[in-house]
Amino acid sequence: MSRLSQEAFSSSSTVNDAVMAMLCTRVRAQQAWTLRQQVTLAAIAAPTGNESTRARMVQQLLQQCGTAPVTMYETGNVECAVGPGDTPPLVCMAHLDSVYATSPQLDAPIAVQRDGALVHAPGIGDNSRGLAGLLTLAAILQAPDVLPLLTRRVHLVATVGEEGDGNLRGARAWFDDSANVGVTPVAAIAIDGPGDTSIVHQAAGAHRLRVAVHGAGGHSWVHADAHNPIHALGDFIARASRLGNAQRRDVVVHITRMGGGESLTAIPQHAWVEVDVRGTSATRIASVRQQLVRLAHDVTPASLRVTITALGDRPAGALAGDHPLVQLAQRATEAIGVVPHAAVASTDANIPLSRGIPAICLGAGGDGGGAHTDGEWYDDTHGARGLERLVRVVMALAS
Ligand SMILES: [Zn+2]
Repeated sequence: MSRLSQEAFSSSSTVNDAVMAMLCTRVRAQQAWTLRQQVTLAAIAAPTGNESTRARMVQQLLQQCGTAPVTMYETGNVECAVGPGDTPPLVCMAHLDSVYATSPQLDAPIAVQRDGALVHAPGIGDNSRGLAGLLTLAAILQAPDVLPLLTRRVHLVATVGEEGDGNLRGARAWFDDSANVGVTPVAAIAIDGPGDTSIVHQAAGAHRLRVAVHGAGGHSWVHADAHNPIHALGDFIARASRLGNAQRRDVVVHITRMGGGESLTAIPQHAWVEVDVRGTSATRIASVRQQLVRLAHDVTPASLRVTITALGDRPAGALAGDHPLVQLAQRATEAIGVVPHAAVASTDANIPLSRGIPAICLGAGGDGGGAHTDGEWYDDTHGARGLERLVRVVMALAS
């Protein structure tokens, strides 16, 4: 840890218990408002690469939270910066994009079904909840009696490209830009999905690649002895799936998409699979990547041609369990009456962690499930609790 961040984490916050309790009361008073923002955002389709409509709505909603300027960047990121700018800033990020099992129509609203505290919609938790958390922070931090307490700037950033093949594009751009102007944030917090117990301080890395096999194809009876790209890839799939270790999780291999073939009655000319390699060990990921490339060539007969395309990299990184930022998050979790537990995930926090900037990922409160499916749900019964935790961590770092 740098001397800079050591000072930041050890210096005591100017916010006493009474002020913190008052802020938590405000978070609870805002619970219904927060859920309304979440529902509004979930209704706007934002698949990775097409986040702009939801981004404009986030920009509008952030503007309503106070007077701090809100900027939309060329990357598609939306940012609101609150507080004085003369000390290393704190960054809070929530990703704009959602995963949909079926492709949404970009101009048609996503069906959101609400029954009291329970809401069903793809992306309702991951990450409309995170975005609603970002808005809550924007409102809380800009209250006239809170703003003067801030001793460092808090950048509230809604990022593009966190899911799918987005390659953490938005977070990467933000940290590239800040490095270019010589600013090193004191810490970063990714706000992702619901939840109030886990503290992600280990970033699972990932490497994604597409393996495609091409051949002459032909009539499936007349040219019956021609080599078949799908058969070759079948071999590849069977063997690739055994390269990972799902129990130990140092590296996990999944074939996530596949396609190919031109006709029911033809030997295919083209077929492809996409592979998602994830893990906590950057060296294991690199070694499995090498094995996959070798395997792709091994299973492909000489009459066929194989091409391998890298689809993206998410760097791995980690913060020690006894790092002051992790300890701060643990105390904040205990303060809301919940037992904290450490978790590993692949989030926007991967980028700062891989660059040596202390970072964690926290949920934005409430319960949820079915993430990355059309059956995703969110339960707001205890929704405020996780946001109280978030406000505690942010105020401890920024005031
Ligand atoms: Zn997410």
